Amino acid sequence: MVGHKKSQITREATRVSTAPIGARNTSGCGQNYFRAFSWPKNSVVLIGLGLLSLVAAPLASAQRIEISWPTPNPAWAQGKGYENWVQPTASGESTSGLFGSVRSNGTQFHEGLDLKPVSRDARGEPRDEITAAMDGIVRNINSHPGESNYGRYVVLEHPGVSPAVYTLYAHLARIEPGLREGMTVARGQALGLMGHSSNGNIPVDRAHMHFEIGLRLTDHFASWYGWKKFGSPNLQGNYNGMNLMGTDPREFLEKWRAHRVDNFTQYFAGLHEAVRLRVATSRLPDFITRYPALLRQPINGLVGGWEISCDVTGLPFAWTPLTPMQVAGMRPDSIEIVSQDTAALRSFRGKSLIRTHGGRPSPGPDLNTMLQLVFSLR
Ligand SMILES: [Zn+2]
Repeated sequence: MVGHKKSQITREATRVSTAPIGARNTSGCGQNYFRAFSWPKNSVVLIGLGLLSLVAAPLASAQRIEISWPTPNPAWAQGKGYENWVQPTASGESTSGLFGSVRSNGTQFHEGLDLKPVSRDARGEPRDEITAAMDGIVRNINSHPGESNYGRYVVLEHPGVSPAVYTLYAHLARIEPGLREGMTVARGQALGLMGHSSNGNIPVDRAHMHFEIGLRLTDHFASWYGWKKFGSPNLQGNYNGMNLMGTDPREFLEKWRAHRVDNFTQYFAGLHEAVRLRVATSRLPDFITRYPALLRQPINGLVGGWEISCDVTGLPFAWTPLTPMQVAGMRPDSIEIVSQDTAALRSFRGKSLIRTHGGRPSPGPDLNTMLQLVFSLR
């Protein structure tokens, strides 16, 4: 199924999901962007003693995590190629089930992996049990397939790893009986049954489990959602797909298997920087208090802004706090593009991160959306 994040529940979003460009909910934010906050000018915030835990990445970041393939298909564990575990779209191209700008001639972004079944019942329905990739906590269960193009889905968060990524398991035929939000689950524990549920239509012969690993942008998603005036209620709370930003599960798993990384801290640290930007703001986003492992250096005293590295998908994977002096030349609440890898951005057409007006770069629609969510920019 295409565009899982974009047509979450609204007609507006459904329309966006069929657009040729993978940008989601891009309308009408660019022009107002620099009006930004209503915070006092030149305000700075003193990071108190209570946040000293942000100074050092947790010890867990040095450890090798344990992670399991979330379906019964042994192909990945056996080292077989992705065509042995991926479910293509109607195009039939195996790459269309991978993560990235893999659809519609590279113009459409797919934010996870589509994993195919290995066994079916007499009616052709998958029998594959879906299991937790890591120990975690059930954060969201959507058992009303019509309310999301993820269909029936489960979101786990993994406080035992650092950063505490989420994993998401979508298009399920049923949720495991007894599974409840707030429950602890162990790696390998059943979450449900593979299916093809969606608010759109996934034919049974293309049944699959859409699997994501990523970071959640904000604890205050409802505020942004209301501001965007989508015209229908947000039924998924902070676990709406628009608030979840996936990274490439295959890239992580392959690096992990090859012992090139042992955990997500190392993985995120090694992502390729496509955009570096500065935000002049006194705000301390909950994103970085939830994911302190993404800090490149400790928060120590006054924060006047942030320098942030984003990968080619716009994921803000590395954060450096700036002193008020370091942003002295910037207007309060403004954004500055420090550098960009134009070749990388050009080759990844499923996202629009940078726009250039009169030779001067500014955030494109997808970067704007991320910054709006993370910094509560309005
Ligand atoms: Zn998918």
